[in-house]
Amino acid sequence: MTNVKDFFDKFPTDDACLDHLMETRYGKEFECPNCKRNAKFYRLKKQPVYLCQWCGWHIHPMAGTIFQDSHTPLQKWFYAIYLFTTTRHGVAAKEVQRQISVTYKTAWRMCHQIRQYMAEVDGDDALGGTVEVDETYVGGIKKGFGRGKGVYMTNKTVVFGMVERNGDVMTRVVPNAQKKTLYPIIKENVKQFSKIMSDDSRSYDNISKGPKGYIHQSVDHTHKEYVRGNAHINSIEGFWSQLKRSIKGTHIHVSKRHMPKYLGEFEFRYNMRSTPYLMFDRLLKAF
Ligand SMILES: [Zn+2]
Repeated sequence: MTNVKDFFDKFPTDDACLDHLMETRYGKEFECPNCKRNAKFYRLKKQPVYLCQWCGWHIHPMAGTIFQDSHTPLQKWFYAIYLFTTTRHGVAAKEVQRQISVTYKTAWRMCHQIRQYMAEVDGDDALGGTVEVDETYVGGIKKGFGRGKGVYMTNKTVVFGMVERNGDVMTRVVPNAQKKTLYPIIKENVKQFSKIMSDDSRSYDNISKGPKGYIHQSVDHTHKEYVRGNAHINSIEGFWSQLKRSIKGTHIHVSKRHMPKYLGEFEFRYNMRSTPYLMFDRLLKAF
């Protein structure tokens, strides 16, 4: 599905969406949980239920999904998810409201559920190889904001990020960028003997001295050194700039409380960047 026409060709009705959900979650034929025979399942008319061809056992493909208790038709849900998987900049609730004609409140709730779900599906596998680490300040309103000391940035959310080069990104909202905050997160999520790349922030001092056997290299941003051989943090900085541009352009402001969900959304998209066409079904399958 590369454009809107493809979407509506594939999902012309709520029924087509339900069939797709059923097939993505369960397959075309599978062992019936009741009679244990290999069975095809047939849709029960006018109900979101499929029946075993042999014993009539019921399968509800919407059970356990974000669609289950929603009054919003499935095609609208699919379209909203489609928007989330085809943008680079995230999706504003206003956009969803306009595109699928639901109230702002409904659109807002849908967006948050999709975001939260993307974060859950993304998961957090440990990182290894060469891992770039960095902290940044996101959101908030520019007021007395200066580079450097975190105490002046109480209206900004401090985010710590780690990215495996050519691999996945992982982020955390943190209370501050101090070593005692960041180091345990690194130890928990980065495999031993990994190479860690950072800037010259003091928070990463002595990181190679711990029991994990990390090899640490840093670039001296203070003195405008950005690359030295293989040492740089361009990947994580690329992720930050994409994230910040998107939040600014699409959402204007994201509060600290909601930040983890937005981060999860961007992580999911970043981690699926080499196979973006799989995003949609990956989300449906994971319920
Ligand atoms: Zn059966």
